[in-house]
Amino acid sequence: MLTEGHVSLVTGAALGIGAGIAELFARNGAAVYLLDIDAAGAEVKAAQIRAAGGEAHAMKCDVSHRGDCAAAVEAAMKRHGRIDSLINNAGIYPRRVFLETSEADWDRMQEVNVKSLMHTCQLVLPHMIARGSGKIVNISSVTLWIGVEKLVHYVTSKGAVLGFTRSLAREMGRHNIHINAVTPGAIKTEGEDIHAVPAEIAAIQAQQCLDRRIMPYDVAAACLFLSSPLSDGMTGQTLNVDGGLYLH
Ligand code: NAP
Repeated sequence: MLTEGHVSLVTGAALGIGAGIAELFARNGAAVYLLDIDAAGAEVKAAQIRAAGGEAHAMKCDVSHRGDCAAAVEAAMKRHGRIDSLINNAGIYPRRVFLETSEADWDRMQEVNVKSLMHTCQLVLPHMIARGSGKIVNISSVTLWIGVEKLVHYVTSKGAVLGFTRSLAREMGRHNIHINAVTPGAIKTEGEDIHAVPAEIAAIQAQQCLDRRIMPYDVAAACLFLSSPLSDGMTGQTLNVDGGLYLH
């Protein structure tokens, strides 16, 4: 499905959705760079991908640090001379009652979930522009459509991801660069075990059209489509991968 010799950068790829994206892209022939603040976790996942016959490189990267992002982009360009896709997946979602949310909580959320996109895109886009093609997928969240209490800072950040996606798509279309977003629903990940309440998850599943948990693979499949020539007619769009929780 992907172009020959495809090289992809996936942020937040040690666990959860990002790990699912890295695995699926590698299975489809891509050389994958796993960028994660958890260097050891990224290396474990990269080693699993290599053991399964794929090409994977782990990079320690806090996406809120421009220098870390620059080092990862430089490493990929040095080894492969091209970056075909960038999946901006890394994100945090600690719950906070709005009135108890500190300025530091707010700023960290926006730095990791939003400002990081400025870093990675500004660093990758010059290389995509030089080649006259590229695919960027930004991971937002279905919470943007429905609103969720104790996640005002998070949902605000995920709204910004869509504004970023749409405006940058307008600016980059002339370079044949496609920039789209995915809004996952309640995905079964390791992060969910820390942040979510089982009863809440069961209630969400009951509201989905599909009576099953939506898995990292499901989100990865949408990212694969948006990184492949099959989506060449699409940019500035958002795909909702939530089992039919929220219907547009
Ligand atoms: P996850 O299971 O928590 O995994 C995220 C990975 O990103 C972890 O390895 C984490 O490392 C890493 N990470 C955290 N901060 C980072 C940073 N500053 N720089 C680089 N890596 C960082 O997350 P997930 O549930 O798969 O979510 C992935 C994305 O999907 C996020 O953007 C999230 O908002 C979005 N999303 C998730 C769901 C869901 O149901 N899971 C639904 C809608 C949207 P540590 O573990 O060390 O922090």
